[in-house]
Amino acid sequence: MKDTFGRKIEYLRLSVTDRCNLRCRYCMPDEGVDSVGHDRIMSYEQMARVAAAAVRLGVNKIRVTGGEPLVRRGLVGFIETLANLPGSPEVALTTNGLLLADYAERLKAAGLDRVNVSLDTLQDEKFDNLTRRHGLSQVLAGIEVAEKVGLNPIKVNMVPIRGVNDDEIANFARLTLEHNWDVRFIEFMPVRRDLGYSPDQRVGEAEIMSVLEQVGDLQPLEKSTADGPARLFRFAGAQGKVGIITAVSRHFCGECNRLRVTADGRLRPCLMSDQEIDLMAALDSDDAAVEKALRDAVMEKPEGHRLGAGDDPLRKRTMKDIGG
Ligand code: SAM
Ligand code: SF4
Repeated sequence: MKDTFGRKIEYLRLSVTDRCNLRCRYCMPDEGVDSVGHDRIMSYEQMARVAAAAVRLGVNKIRVTGGEPLVRRGLVGFIETLANLPGSPEVALTTNGLLLADYAERLKAAGLDRVNVSLDTLQDEKFDNLTRRHGLSQVLAGIEVAEKVGLNPIKVNMVPIRGVNDDEIANFARLTLEHNWDVRFIEFMPVRRDLGYSPDQRVGEAEIMSVLEQVGDLQPLEKSTADGPARLFRFAGAQGKVGIITAVSRHFCGECNRLRVTADGRLRPCLMSDQEIDLMAALDSDDAAVEKALRDAVMEKPEGHRLGAGDDPLRKRTMKDIGG
């Protein structure tokens, strides 16, 4: 599928739930977080039909996200369904890692190709404050088990926030010296006005780079398509890589190859736009209608967002609804 700006759409982000076992301050407000009722969430069967249609139209990578995907019962079986779709798409998972130690082995056996773990601090107390819940040791145990069962290389996503965890950028980067992990620093996106942090707490690319340059001899790496929008580097002699994803200061809309599906069956042509296309009606019809909805969403993809230049943030959804 190609959109009206010539971009080839090959990547589907599929949110399987809007529920979460954390309450990260940059993702959702403390109060008034509604969850969509069970009756409005797509069944795994419906999601598999959407994924299969997307693969028929050229999608070759599916990322399962949420909310927290591992809180939805039956996820392992669903991963297996995705991995076994005709066309064998690459299947990846984005998780906060809290339940990863319990599931990593079964996920690997089900055909999961890779896992991204979102982790923003290596300090217990800060973790509790940032996520409004407890569990750093569980997340670290999850990463360890995932590595042991071969979900390699593990990607660790960190969102630096000024005055909160920006003092840990160097420590996260140093993790790559000893571990074959990809540590990616993702700019904070002020997607809504009611989040725990303000837009001026975003730590931009230049600042992240200057911290990384102090850690060691940074060598730029060639990008492969699996790297997505990250700019990647390796410290001389390091096992893993570091990357920067500049979603705001230097957005990569020109290379955007993705479509997003929310757990309640809406297709989102763009993360940063509230525009959505209803998939539920198409699912009530037939697979041709599902394919048409996917094609329509591709044709509706805007050229880009201007979040850093003062575009309005989202109104209807938080990141946990959309899946990041
Ligand atoms: N619960 C899972 C997790 O945290 O990995 C999957 C869903 S979460 C919405 C997906 C990604 O969105 C996470 O890596 C998280 O750090 C990121 N995210 C959420 N809110 C964000 C924000 N305001 N700016 C940048 N990234 C954000
Ligand atoms: Fe949950 Fe992920 Fe949002 Fe944190 S970032 S609240 S773990 S959905």
